[in-house]
Amino acid sequence: MAEAALAGAPRRKRPPPKLATVEKIEKITPHVVRVTFIGDELAEFSPPRPGAHIKLLFVPKGTSWDRADPEAPRPPSRTYTPRRFDPATRRLEVEFVLHGDGLAAGWVQSAKPGDPMFIGGPGGGYDVPADASEMIVVADDTAIPGAGTVIEAAPKTCKVTAICEILDAGEQRALSPTVSISPRWLHRDRNTAGILLEQEVAGLSASQSAHWWIACEANAMRRIRMHLLKDRRIDPAHVHTRGYWRLGETNYPDHDYGND
Ligand SMILES: Cc1cc2nc3c(=O)[nH]c(=O)nc-3n(C[C@H](O)[C@H](O)[C@H](O)COP(=O)(O)OP(=O)(O)OC[C@H]3O[C@@H](n4cnc5c(N)ncnc54)[C@H](O)[C@@H]3O)c2cc1C
Repeated sequence: MAEAALAGAPRRKRPPPKLATVEKIEKITPHVVRVTFIGDELAEFSPPRPGAHIKLLFVPKGTSWDRADPEAPRPPSRTYTPRRFDPATRRLEVEFVLHGDGLAAGWVQSAKPGDPMFIGGPGGGYDVPADASEMIVVADDTAIPGAGTVIEAAPKTCKVTAICEILDAGEQRALSPTVSISPRWLHRDRNTAGILLEQEVAGLSASQSAHWWIACEANAMRRIRMHLLKDRRIDPAHVHTRGYWRLGETNYPDHDYGND
């Protein structure tokens, strides 16, 4: 679907996005950049649930957007994970994968401190079951920030296995600064989008009562979901899946849970 059409689509009622500015930009691996946003308006930002998302709105350079004007077209947006939010300092951290050409991936490469950003949300998310004794977290590079939030919310007694697909060894990084976990790293070396995750899940033994959190490229997510539900007959209530992007599709929607 054309981006202009999406931008002009009917809008749901939602609180207006908050205006923040870029405070800090850190390259944490060759293909991941962490941006810290800061701003007084983030005082209104609700603490995100694990696996939640935000919308970043990209106002084209040299233009402005009056968010109070209901007639003003909403700028194009992309979906990201609020990796860490500190209400006391009103700082919000977001980790961007440099995947190639894209509005957001391009923006972050030229971002600098002081740049403005409108931020909508947070929305969505996943409640880690309080009685979970085993969890399997499956993520590609875009979902590593979300995986970190889920792992941090898991009960202390829960056995957590993390499987992460990344480009190569240079992309390995701590999933969480507070929870120690050694993921199974899968190096795809090229753009195969989720095939290694699928293979790893197919060979993984886990109890039928384990809870699964899976986020990656949308086609791979569906294949993994089908394998768990049909081949392994896992209770659908134990399988939370989400497509974070789709090969060849711009501005993938933020609500693909693979239920169709
Ligand atoms: C709930 C949720 C949370 C997310 N959290 C994060 C996050 O924290 N960090 C993050 O980096 N991404 C995250 N994503 C994924 C991000 O929204 C997409 O990767 C998005 O397409 C990036 O926008 P873009 O403007 O750079 O590319 P787009 O303009 O949307 O796409 C341009 C082209 O790039 C391709 N593309 C998009 N992403 C990738 C990729 N990862 N690898 C290869 N090709 C790609 C598309 O298929 C398309 O062909 C999240 C998505 C969801 C739904």
